Amino acid sequence: MSSLGERGIPRFRVRTIESPPYTVDRSRLRRFNSKQIVFDRITWDSSWKGYMCMYDEHVLEMVSEGKPGYSRLDFALAYASWIVHDAFEGGFSWKKIKLNRTPVATIGIDWTKPRYEADDPHKISNHIKRAANLFGASQVGICRLNRDWIYADADISEKFENVIVFAVEMDANGIAASPAVPAAVATGLGYSKMAFILALMGEFIRNLGYEALQCGNDTALSIPLAIDAGLGELGRNGLLITPKNGPRVRLCKIFTDLPLESDTPIEFGVKKFCKKCKLCAENCETDAISMDDEPSFEIACRSNNPGVLKWYVDVERCYLYWCENGIDCSTCIKVCPYNIASSPRPARDTERKL
Ligand code: SF4
Ligand code: SF4
Repeated sequence: MSSLGERGIPRFRVRTIESPPYTVDRSRLRRFNSKQIVFDRITWDSSWKGYMCMYDEHVLEMVSEGKPGYSRLDFALAYASWIVHDAFEGGFSWKKIKLNRTPVATIGIDWTKPRYEADDPHKISNHIKRAANLFGASQVGICRLNRDWIYADADISEKFENVIVFAVEMDANGIAASPAVPAAVATGLGYSKMAFILALMGEFIRNLGYEALQCGNDTALSIPLAIDAGLGELGRNGLLITPKNGPRVRLCKIFTDLPLESDTPIEFGVKKFCKKCKLCAENCETDAISMDDEPSFEIACRSNNPGVLKWYVDVERCYLYWCENGIDCSTCIKVCPYNIASSPRPARDTERKL
């Protein structure tokens, strides 16, 4: 495994650019069908090895082996971390969750009417961003909805012209433990925070009289939307790299008819750095990440979405490793110098011991 010291901490300056920092081949680009996501394919695609493989299948055997970082306590904590994401339906609602704080019959007020006059998109966008930060988002960006990124099997009305994209920071010390279970606690907590932030933001928008479609990984590809919204660039590891937290974020989004001001895409040299760095590819337990110097249009497996110039990640191999590991892995986040640069000292020190 390579150490961080060989590649160093990236130094960068963020600059705004006119159009998003990716290259699309329109002759190859198709709207991605969510049935091709590996988590969906495990349920129907008998043509690949991951069919009906659940990564928590052998957890009890793993616990009995007594391997550090894979204890009963670790798994109990990891499963608990997901519970708001998995069990709170309001997190991904497309409708008003609660009409009023007190029963409507008692006070007779519907906060959604009349609509708030959002005649200054700049001002309301600032309110949205302040609210998102207050509710726990690490970063928030806004863009016009590029319909190329909506899943082929999803339907979003034309009236939803804007997308608000949220980046939720994951715990650096947890991620530093990858591939052991504490990293999965950081991931699960990130997903639960997504549900929390989405619920509050969706209600905020609906209380102003506008619609809000709260989405996690569903309905559209989050990473290109986040790039369009100026949150970061795509890395070799197939993840969004943000200037503030590197790839150590989860993404979620809200589609809305609220008039908003779009942010500008940014560039801070990620592609150039990734060409040389390759730490994620070298440290991936299953060689799922490309070692090629240059990005290409060649997909690595059928769960990739063709048509964008990038390093395609073999997510089939990645998922099969998760099955072997008993839980998800975050090593390509852990070793990324953009993560290390943004992590507090203990997580950095863990990385240096690799
Ligand atoms: S999550 Fe783990 S297995 Fe998957 S690509 Fe990243 S490092 Fe490789
Ligand atoms: S670890 Fe991977 S994604 Fe991060 S900078 Fe290096 S090559 Fe890019």
